[in-house]
Amino acid sequence: MKKKEEIYVTKSSLPPLEEFLPYLEKLWETRLLTNMGEFHEQFKKELSGFLSVENTELFVNGHVALELLIESLGNKGEIITTPFSFASTTHAIVRNGCTPVFCDIEEDFYTIDVKKLRSLITKDTVAILPVHVYGHICDVEELDRISKEYGIPVLYDAAHAFGERYHGRGVGSFGYASMFSFHATKVFHSIEGGAVCIGEKNPELMHKLYALKNFGIMGQESVELVGCNGKMNEFSAAMGLCNLRHIEDYIKEREKR
Ligand SMILES: *Cc1c(COP(=O)(O)O)cnc(C)c1O
Repeated sequence: MKKKEEIYVTKSSLPPLEEFLPYLEKLWETRLLTNMGEFHEQFKKELSGFLSVENTELFVNGHVALELLIESLGNKGEIITTPFSFASTTHAIVRNGCTPVFCDIEEDFYTIDVKKLRSLITKDTVAILPVHVYGHICDVEELDRISKEYGIPVLYDAAHAFGERYHGRGVGSFGYASMFSFHATKVFHSIEGGAVCIGEKNPELMHKLYALKNFGIMGQESVELVGCNGKMNEFSAAMGLCNLRHIEDYIKEREKR
């Protein structure tokens, strides 16, 4: 009997092996395997270009990126989000000692219903955390207005929106900052990995994110804050660099399914 062909919803994409091997050879030569090495820095730069964002910081995975982004706000309180997301979104809020407040989603695109958002804002609201869903972009314009009106930052979970654009603008450039996930199951991946991107210059935020992912170590004798290990290693950065060259094909491949 013929074996049934299994149809996968997702299957990790891989670049041609011969494109990845030179990176491995380099790592065997230098033995600089992590701690913001050459591939890490190159990947950061290429990503900022591809996503059309001002700045990017890389992390070990998307969840840690989101947790540290929330932590960088330095405020505890309520964060308005939607339940229609991967568990990570709400967990990142709770693990920061904040309270998730769920806003309903709208029916057509499953993104946060901005018409229901204002009534959930209280004096304790410290952030709004909308999720772009299946490549559908949230109502970024209205979210921008609400953010300005109330002085509350909007942090996007953009794990489902890699490479998406809105009126020609990279989706990661909206709001206060956006988190992307490069998990092996996503359309673009670095095996495990994640990033926080910003649309406007914010050296203070970028400095803090770097410190948070690196135990606060900012120099030989300088530990600025209590951080954790959220760094992306060189093997992941190399995979990201290779996959970035094939992203258009990966997206087309998924459109076929
Ligand atoms: C994948 C995903 C995450 C978490 O990313 P990891 O890189 O797996 O930690 C967060 N939010 C959403 C919506 C996701 O799909």
